[in-house]
Amino acid sequence: MKKHGIGKMVLLGVVLSSLIIPVWGAEKISALIIDGQNNHDWKLTTPYLQAILENTGIFEVHVLTSPASGEDMSGFNPPFQDYDVLVMNYNGDSWPAATRERFDNYVSSGGGLVIYHAADNSFPEWKEYNQMIGLGGWGDRDEKDGPRIYWEDGRIVRDTSPGKGGSHGKRHEFVVDNRMRDHPIMQGTSPSWRHTLDELYDSLRGPAENMTLLATAYSDLDTGGTGKHEPILFTVDYGEGRVFHTVLGHDDVSCSGVGFITTFARGAEWAATGKVTLPVPPDFPGKGKATSRDPLSGR
Ligand code: ZN
Repeated sequence: MKKHGIGKMVLLGVVLSSLIIPVWGAEKISALIIDGQNNHDWKLTTPYLQAILENTGIFEVHVLTSPASGEDMSGFNPPFQDYDVLVMNYNGDSWPAATRERFDNYVSSGGGLVIYHAADNSFPEWKEYNQMIGLGGWGDRDEKDGPRIYWEDGRIVRDTSPGKGGSHGKRHEFVVDNRMRDHPIMQGTSPSWRHTLDELYDSLRGPAENMTLLATAYSDLDTGGTGKHEPILFTVDYGEGRVFHTVLGHDDVSCSGVGFITTFARGAEWAATGKVTLPVPPDFPGKGKATSRDPLSGR
């Protein structure tokens, strides 16, 4: 019986090896979405973000939910180092000093970070976080936090004049213009593309150091905007770490835009690895019409 058992074990081992080795050969990018507090509906959007990444086939995604707002955060200590990239869907209470330091060390020593929509509202008082995100909004941000950035006459303007940091007009569809078409995240996307119904963040302020502006959108005065070409997608080099920042994705409709889906997944891959292998899909929008998919079903 025992001998028989060993024989079966060996056979099982051979079968398992042949099944497992190809999976090991293509190790997935490990991503951690951090949520739990937000003035946005994170319970709605986190499953979208998770599905967008998992549907590519190259990510393995975990979600870590913090204590609720006002609860004890002293034990909040995520295992950042276990992941290739962290996705921030968090806008809430301060983290313990030791956790902030570990987060800082994780990114500065080469970790990937994705800042998603209202995550750039978070932690106005945390100097290093604001360096990582480049630009942020609300939380009493103003000229003391840094310049606002916009695109004008083919170049980036750093506007240090006084003013509130962070605003948006009424939600609408808008055109996103690529400003760095040879960047790995943007390569192969349309020069200009129409995004689904979303908030168009404007007047964000921050250190804006080591920042690469990838895309802007014109914030029309008619929709309550600024009349400026506002930053929409950008990267920040923070020490050895790569940060991808998308201000898009207010809700499920915004997260269903193919422009959002594509740039979010490619941005996360770039933040994790410095490269982009994910293709631009055939339904990536042009300037005329926004395209959508249901990220939860992948169709
Ligand atoms: Zn929003």
